[in-house]
Amino acid sequence: MPRIDLNVPFAEKDEAKRLGARWDGERKVWYVPDGVATNVFGRWLPREPDISVRSSIYFIAQTINPCWKCGEHTSAFGFILPAGHEMLEPDDEDDDRDAWCRYDEPTIVHYVTDLLPGVVARIKAFSRHYCVDFSKTTQSSYWMNHCEHCGMKQGDFEMYCEPQGAFFPMDEHAASQIVLHEFAEPFGCNGGAVYGNHLFEYMRRA
Ligand SMILES: [Zn+2]
Repeated sequence: MPRIDLNVPFAEKDEAKRLGARWDGERKVWYVPDGVATNVFGRWLPREPDISVRSSIYFIAQTINPCWKCGEHTSAFGFILPAGHEMLEPDDEDDDRDAWCRYDEPTIVHYVTDLLPGVVARIKAFSRHYCVDFSKTTQSSYWMNHCEHCGMKQGDFEMYCEPQGAFFPMDEHAASQIVLHEFAEPFGCNGGAVYGNHLFEYMRRA
């Protein structure tokens, strides 16, 4: 049987360890060791991702941002989807059904709660500080940046919703601080898409 990896938020790692989960330092993931029953790990067991946004191609956006806590500069990551991505929305003709709607402008996603495993593997290769964590602001868990120096959460609100936030550039220079890594692979997440002028054309291609 293949090994079962667990989705353990950083804040719950001690509890997972106490229950018998083991840490894979190379792949940065907790897993169920051989011979240990999986049922005690219920809420961390993998489930099918709940996808509401999808694209056949995507960019991992990378920038440097000062940590609000320790002041050191730390890397921050996000996802940008080109024009042609789709979102699941209520169907006008059928109330019980959602339909995929195509968008003809690029977007940036935030408050991401689910990600396709292939996308998780890509972002994990960039940073072990991008992981699911609980936000007191939203009272929910989502894929969040963390300071690479002090480990503090770097919440999405400041980065995506506040003008001049790391992923809310207000001028060409700010946009040029963002580096885009292109992946011609399927993207899928559950999260919010932000539309508007993000100055995508001034962001740098890796
Ligand atoms: Zn810090």
